[in-house]
Amino acid sequence: MITVVTELKNGKLDDISLELLTAAKTLTQKIGSKVQAIVLGDHVEEAAKVLSTYAIDTVLTLQNEKLKNYVPDNYAAALKQLIEKEKPKALLFPHTPMGYDLAPKISASMGLGAVSAVNQIEFESNKPVFTKPVFNGKLMAKIKIDTDPLILTIERGAFKKFEEKGTAAISSFQIDLSNVPERYKVLGQAQAQKGAVDLTKAKIIVSGGRGLGKKENYKLVEDLAKALGGEYAASRPVVDNEWTDKDRQVGSSGKIVSPDLYIACGISGAIQHLAGMKKSKVIVAINKDPEAPIFTVAHYGIVGDLFKVIPAFIAELKK
Ligand code: FAD
Repeated sequence: MITVVTELKNGKLDDISLELLTAAKTLTQKIGSKVQAIVLGDHVEEAAKVLSTYAIDTVLTLQNEKLKNYVPDNYAAALKQLIEKEKPKALLFPHTPMGYDLAPKISASMGLGAVSAVNQIEFESNKPVFTKPVFNGKLMAKIKIDTDPLILTIERGAFKKFEEKGTAAISSFQIDLSNVPERYKVLGQAQAQKGAVDLTKAKIIVSGGRGLGKKENYKLVEDLAKALGGEYAASRPVVDNEWTDKDRQVGSSGKIVSPDLYIACGISGAIQHLAGMKKSKVIVAINKDPEAPIFTVAHYGIVGDLFKVIPAFIAELKK
């Protein structure tokens, strides 16, 4: 059994849970096993129902008052009980603040091998090989681990959302959290800043780099994004120079995105930037330097001055 630990946001299934199902299906190709999705929380019936409409084998609910909010000790205790009883071959967590807190807790306390931030799964002699960025995305490491179960956290956007429909049986797994010491108290939850953008969900992203020259010129990128009905984003120097907000930074120390269309304007294509966008379905690069590394990942390259290309592009769109 490959077990996917899903994540809820305000009671609803976060999309990354469906990406995890695709990663789990990839693993079943060689570690030949079934896929089970688990949902933890106090009331998870709705999320379980949604999951049961996908072509996976089972959906398991772990319900308890103490799982209402993410409390590391309670979540870890519930999962350890599940691992001991169900003996999954692998446990997949989302590489989110919850996942990258919880996965190492389980792995360290149970002596299991773990790989975090996995963005690719391949096989060598039928054994999985996991790729993950290291040194802030400067290098990609390929890691083989051989523990039972494997513990993985999966990068957002690294796998497509699982779409195959089916009917999976829902059952509940009984857990006992009465002996878990209460070391944490959730005092409340703060909403993300109003107006904050979630680039990971955008279908079209227009991103600007240092080639824009100065803050006032960043408007060109915003205008093109608006004309295309997409979001605008940036490379790190643009954010460091405060031409736009930090939540719009793409790259190894920003957001990892995989939109249908990513337009890079005046971005050289440093490895840390590529780590955040190279999985985009169609990449268009506008750069005046034909040798710019961004062209190595671009599907369409425009060698030219962005101050001419972007206004011409917007004018065409307006027509
Ligand atoms: P530059 O590399 O300066 O490129 C500007 C480009 O614009 C050039 O290719 C130039 O030819 C082109 N250009 C100039 N004028 C024009 C014009 N008129 N028309 C068309 N093209 C033009 N970077 C990120 O983006 N995201 C990250 O998350 C990130 N994390 C990092 C983490 C660490 C630990 C480190 C060390 C670095 C990180 N970086 C990150 C920085 C990264 O190494 C690069 O410095 C950065 O991506 C470069 O940004 P840029 O492409 O906008 O600028």
